[in-house]
Amino acid sequence: MITVSNVTKRFGDFVALDDVSLEIPDGSLTALLGPSGSGKSTLLRIIGGLEHADTGTVTIHGDDVTNLAPQKRGIGFVFQHYAAFKHMTVQDNVAFGLKIRKTPKERVDSRVDELLKIVGLAGFATRYPQQLSGGQRQRMALARALAVEPKVLLLDEPFGALDAKVRAELREWLRRLHDEVHVTTLLVTHDQEEAMSIADNIAVMDNAHIEQVGGPRELYDRPANQFVMGFLGPVA
Ligand code: ATP
Ligand code: MG
Repeated sequence: MITVSNVTKRFGDFVALDDVSLEIPDGSLTALLGPSGSGKSTLLRIIGGLEHADTGTVTIHGDDVTNLAPQKRGIGFVFQHYAAFKHMTVQDNVAFGLKIRKTPKERVDSRVDELLKIVGLAGFATRYPQQLSGGQRQRMALARALAVEPKVLLLDEPFGALDAKVRAELREWLRRLHDEVHVTTLLVTHDQEEAMSIADNIAVMDNAHIEQVGGPRELYDRPANQFVMGFLGPVA
């Protein structure tokens, strides 16, 4: 489980997170859903250690990681605009984290093969990132983030820059990947359809607060307040 306890974050006078607490169950695919500016990315960055909270704590699997550097938290990241190594092939990009950890070559090769298969890029191993479509590139990013077997996968609008059809395909990929790998995943999105269709747990954010946490069905059937009701639909 990831626990966020009483996290507050200000930027100058502006309160981006106001005493936020959240529990993310092990092995879940949890969506952090809310409108632009509600504080989703800030919360994800604090969980990942890319940003520090003013007050409050974060634990991952029982360990207090509040003051731990990002690379020591056992986290894989995927962002909207993925920075791949352009001079490296797809397989070398995916292998990168394993190689810097001095993983034996046979293990690297088998792990990379396995991951490229899972994300449907088995035939693309020797291509370069600029020879991939946007959707393929984000799948490579997922494979790369998973290569080192992170405890937690943090995704910030990973499909945000792509068109609707490719987004829908990638949702399917992510869902399948999650069913196969079971890594605790936090997906930031402002797209309620995306959250409702693939997440098993959704935290709805608005204006520096978490308004409600629950399964898609629960939020839809029993929204805690007007904001959640309005944000989730009903989609006619
Ligand atoms: P979006 O869907 O647009 O990505 P978000 O929910 O991810 O929005 P955040 O990026 O967490 O929102 O930002 C929350 C608020 O904090 C916004 O009003 C933003 O302007 C502000 N904010 C975020 N980072 C900074 C910063 N480094 N300096 C000042 N203000 C910031
Ligand atoms: Mg954001």
